[in-house]
Amino acid sequence: MLARHQDPIVAIATAPGRGAVGIVRVSGKAIAPLVQLLCGKALKPREASYLPFKAADGQAIDQGLALYFPAPHSYTGEDVLELQAHGGPVVLQLLLARCLEAAQTLAANGQTTLPGLRLAEPGEFTERAFLNDKIDLAQAEAIADLIDASTEAAARSASRSLTGAFSQEIHRLRDALIHLRMLVEATLDFPEEEIDFLQKADAYGQLDQLRSTLQGVMQRTRQGALLREGIKVVIAGQPNAGKSSLLNALAGAELAIVTPIAGTTRDKVAQTIQIEGVPLHVIDTAGLRESDDEVERIGIARAWEEIASADAVLFLHDLTRMQEDDYRAADAQIATTLRGQLPSSVPVMQVWNKADAFSATSARQMSAEASKIVAIHAPADTAGDEPLILSAKTGDGLNALRRQLLAMAGWQAAAEGTYIARARHVQALQQVQEHLDSAHEQLHVDSPALDLLAEELRLAQQSLNAITGEFTSDDLLGVIFSSFCIGK
Ligand code: GDP
Repeated sequence: MLARHQDPIVAIATAPGRGAVGIVRVSGKAIAPLVQLLCGKALKPREASYLPFKAADGQAIDQGLALYFPAPHSYTGEDVLELQAHGGPVVLQLLLARCLEAAQTLAANGQTTLPGLRLAEPGEFTERAFLNDKIDLAQAEAIADLIDASTEAAARSASRSLTGAFSQEIHRLRDALIHLRMLVEATLDFPEEEIDFLQKADAYGQLDQLRSTLQGVMQRTRQGALLREGIKVVIAGQPNAGKSSLLNALAGAELAIVTPIAGTTRDKVAQTIQIEGVPLHVIDTAGLRESDDEVERIGIARAWEEIASADAVLFLHDLTRMQEDDYRAADAQIATTLRGQLPSSVPVMQVWNKADAFSATSARQMSAEASKIVAIHAPADTAGDEPLILSAKTGDGLNALRRQLLAMAGWQAAAEGTYIARARHVQALQQVQEHLDSAHEQLHVDSPALDLLAEELRLAQQSLNAITGEFTSDDLLGVIFSSFCIGK
């Protein structure tokens, strides 16, 4: 374990700003003397004590609850002290400073052999929980995902991952894989009978079973990653095509509980809404105009980077203006720009807005006139697709659009028991799949090279272990935990 994991750490655990209660948390090995000094007495484990938090000069900074969780029964697996005070930034900063100062006093008096108390880095409490086997890596990630969840479905799924639902699936796969590996490795020692032996032990059946189980796990993991990462959609179209109206109609009442995607808030071109709990990051191309303003240009460049990784483009047309030559020419111009800027893998969905303008009475029956216009003007390469004719104003046709967006993203109806996952997990499972595919090929040639087969299975297990953190580089751990907030 790295040396820095030996230091006791301290941080304000509650969110910045003012609140009724704020918490300062200390974690480290053998912090009992520090607890004694800060609280003026020894604390009973896991019992709340109401007491004054005193500064070095004996004056009370605040009164509050102190909780002491001796190792190993704590969040981090180390000794943990929680000081619950009033949630003002100044009070909490004073308490934090007092903790650091008290630790220094102890060291100066030779009352502790511990390294000095220091401020925690982002995610360091959770990292220690992981390093001390309180949780595995997928669970640690679920904690961050639960805190960051932008939809109710994401929060519920993160909570399920945190209780280990995802990890258990991975462990079941791993156990089956280990069983097969043992079989193959044992066979390596008896080369004459190897194939017979593998056949008798049904290595073929086991591998097939493993691959089919993996398919199921991958499918659920992709769903979980969708819940976390969402889909990125660009809305393009001429001014007044109804882009903002469509966004508002899609957002409906749900807008209030979702948050803008990180990093793009400043640019004001992306908004996050949700469909069936799947976050939909919508980028409005109104923000993508030519600009002389340096700051705006940086924002626009960043938006195009986002767009390059978009899952789809909604190209919105105004049905009421498709008869106008100029309007169609401008639409064609946008289509060219988009195709020029977008990777060919990003689908462009043609969407026809303002259908209500043609059918004032019958909302369900999209007017024959609207369909006729679409039939005439839809780009040649979209012929055959069911045209998406809708009205952002009345909401007609929106459900079809929602369904199509989710289907395009690969979302299947939210099943009970969905867990949250990350792109990292999906990638690791893809590697497992590749190794199992190679293993399958090895096993089905005339004279299988068992050492190669064994190696593929070993690599498959290594990729699987990276998910739960049993085999994960320090670099990757650094990346994962540094994305946490401080105090977590
Ligand atoms: P944007 O410039 O593309 O964002 O377009 P807006 O959403 O601001 O809409 C432009 C105008 O079209 C507004 O007057 C909207 O009320 C109107 N509009 C938008 N969607 C519809 C629709 O479905 N039907 C009708 N009749 N008008 C619409």
